[in-house]
Amino acid sequence: MIYLNNVSKTYPNGTVGIKPTSLSIEKGEFVFITGNSGSGKSTLLKLMLKEVEPTHGKISINGREITKLKRRQVPYLRRDVAVVFQDFRLLPNKTVYENVAFAMQVVQASSKEIRRAVPVVLGLVGLAKKARCYPHELSGGEQQRTAIARAIVNNSPILIADEPTGNLDPSTSWEIMNLLLDINMRGVTVIVATHEREMVNLLKKREIEVSNGIIVKDTYEGGYHDEV
Ligand code: ADP
Ligand code: ADP
Repeated sequence: MIYLNNVSKTYPNGTVGIKPTSLSIEKGEFVFITGNSGSGKSTLLKLMLKEVEPTHGKISINGREITKLKRRQVPYLRRDVAVVFQDFRLLPNKTVYENVAFAMQVVQASSKEIRRAVPVVLGLVGLAKKARCYPHELSGGEQQRTAIARAIVNNSPILIADEPTGNLDPSTSWEIMNLLLDINMRGVTVIVATHEREMVNLLKKREIEVSNGIIVKDTYEGGYHDEV
């Protein structure tokens, strides 16, 4: 589903983000990306989101080589790969309902589809009663649930989360992680960059650890797998 073939990223100022790396993530996996600050986690995610271009190598997602996509084709990639961030990035002047609806408007869903899908996804993330609230009226956990609802409402097969619990207290962090696990159980491939060592250890999911731009650990235990 996601293949990185000998991918490296050196930023224009010469800083190395990721050294040549090959990696594959299969449909339906739940993967943690771990490592210290500055190790290259975000670079790896941004490469998969086409927010940065690799210096060398190829990246393909769902059989499509994203490194070949033109800038203007990136919105189509967002249908395959949804994303949530540490700082939520909700639209402050839109309600919970409107934030989620807006993501569907962007991909030209009809009003009918929007009216059907938004309440369903708000129910799924436990926010049915908060539909009319504005982001500033919500707790951090509720804001992150809204961001997750917005990310999944278009049924993207892949969800990338960059430090999704970085701004949340421990119990809220567990709620958000459980929600991501639920979403994974529904068939979505979920990739989570995190510092939360305790969660990673307890959940026993695949862990890819990055250090100084190199994958130093990958606990993949599945069946068939390309040599990485
Ligand atoms: P992490 O997400 O693990 O904290 P990053 O991928 O953000 O790590 O960073 C990896 C390395 O790349 C760091 O040395 C960081 O300073 C550098 N870096 C990240 N973004 C840029 C950028 N836009 N320009 C230059 N260097 C960058
Ligand atoms: P439209 O006329 O554009 O189809 P809607 O009836 O979908 O409008 O929505 C009108 C307003 O009501 C929107 O701003 C939206 O925020 C709000 N709204 C619609 N449905 C719900 C709902 N199930 N829960 C909360 N707010 C809703």
